[in-house]
Amino acid sequence: MMATITIERENCISCGMCWDTCPEVYEQNAADAKSQILSHLQLAQNPAEGSVVEDLEDCARAGADACPVSIISVV
Ligand code: SF4
Repeated sequence: MMATITIERENCISCGMCWDTCPEVYEQNAADAKSQILSHLQLAQNPAEGSVVEDLEDCARAGADACPVSIISVV
């Protein structure tokens, strides 16, 4: 099973909680300082959308749960 991750990047406040919690999935975009999905996990090279295998799902969810403005969804 794969999980799909979406970040509402326009509402990211660059707090760093997601990438501190799960650097295997999230990182800071060098250009706008907001969160993005690691490039090798992105869908259609979209920094706001990606998919992970089951092994990374708990990590992705922990990062989403850590977001203070609740803009990451993992489904
Ligand atoms: S935890 Fe949320 S607000 Fe903070 S950097 Fe990640 S996506 Fe942005």
